[in-house]
Amino acid sequence: MIMYVGIFLLQLTGSLQGVIIPDVNKEPGAEQKFKEIGNAYEVLSDDEKRSIYDKYGAAGLRGAGTGMGDYGNPFDIFESLFEGMGGMGGMGGMGGARAGRNRPMQGDDESYNLVLNFKDAIFGVEKEIEITRLESCGTCDGSGAKPGTTPSKCNTCGGQGQVVSSARTPLGVFQQVMTCSTCGGTGESSTPCNTCGGDGRARKTKRISLKVPAGVDSGSRLRVRSEGNAGRRGGPPGDLYVFIEVVSDPVLKRDGTNILYTCKVSYFDAILGTTMKVPTVDGMVDLRIPAGTQPGTTLVMAKKGVPCLGKPNARGDQLVRVQVEIPKRLSGEEKKLIEELSNLSKLKTANSRR
Ligand SMILES: [Zn+2]
Ligand SMILES: [Zn+2]
Repeated sequence: MIMYVGIFLLQLTGSLQGVIIPDVNKEPGAEQKFKEIGNAYEVLSDDEKRSIYDKYGAAGLRGAGTGMGDYGNPFDIFESLFEGMGGMGGMGGMGGARAGRNRPMQGDDESYNLVLNFKDAIFGVEKEIEITRLESCGTCDGSGAKPGTTPSKCNTCGGQGQVVSSARTPLGVFQQVMTCSTCGGTGESSTPCNTCGGDGRARKTKRISLKVPAGVDSGSRLRVRSEGNAGRRGGPPGDLYVFIEVVSDPVLKRDGTNILYTCKVSYFDAILGTTMKVPTVDGMVDLRIPAGTQPGTTLVMAKKGVPCLGKPNARGDQLVRVQVEIPKRLSGEEKKLIEELSNLSKLKTANSRR
C-alpha cells in the first residue's frame, strides 16, 4: 500500500490555520494529485518562490531551477481540495502571508468614508478625521495576559498548540491538524487581561490629519499606511483606506478633470457677440462670446477645470455649452424691427441671385 504523506500549512481567511496530513490509498490519480499539492506547498511556503510564481507563473519556477513539474495555479489545487471537504468557504485568505502558529500576524485594514464638498475635492484639503481601530492594549502591552500572572499549559491541546480532526474528501480521509482554538496555537493558557479580554488589542479612537490631494473624485481611495488595526503577536498594523464621496455642485458638473457648464445667451448677443461673467471653480470669470456663435456651440475655458490627481500643475478645462434663447413673445416695436431685418435679408438674397 502506497501512502503519501505531506504536510501543508494553510491560512484560511486568517482564522483557521492547520496542518493537513493526507491519508490516501483509494482513488486512482491520487498519487499525481499529491505531487501537485506538494508543489503547491513549496510555492506557498517559500516567500521567494511565491513571489516568482506571482510574477511569472509556474514557468518561472521551472526556470528558477526548482525542479518542479507541470502543475496549475497552486491556489486552484487548494481550492479544489477544499471544495471536496465541503463547506470550507472561499479561499480568499490564500493570497495573504503564510502564518504558522505563534507567528506575528498583520492587522486588518480599516476603512473610513469621507464626504468632501465640491471645491475641496478639486483643490485638495487637509482634514482631521476620527478613526476607530484596534490598538495594542496598554494594560497588558499587547500580550493579552493579565499583568502579574504567569501562563500555564493549555488544557485543550496539552501544550501542543494543535488539535487533530478528521475530514472525508474525494481524495480520502484527511487527518487535519488544526491550531488549538483555546490557546490560539501558543500552547499556553493565561489569565486574560481585563482591558482587552485576552486579545492583546483594544478598540480606540484616534484623530488623524489627512492630506487629501487635489483632483480626487467620488470613488477615489486613499491609503494611509499603518493606520489600520494593530497586528497580533507583534505583527505590523494594517492600512487605513479612505473612501471618498464628493457632494455635487448645483451649477458646475464635473466630468473627470473637465467642468461642464451651460450658459444662456440672448439671440442678439449670439449674433453680435458679447462678454459675460460665468461661474468657475476659481470664481466668476469673463467669457467672450464671439459674434455669430451658433446654438449648441461649446466654448473652451482653458485650464479652468480640475487639477490632475498627482499632477497638480496640469488642469482640465471648463467646457461651456452655449444655449441661445429665442424670445417667445415680442413687443410691437420688436416685431416691426425683426420684420424689417427679415425683409432686408430677403432683399439681400434676391440681389445676390441677380
Ligand atoms: Zn490587554
Ligand atoms: Zn491549546
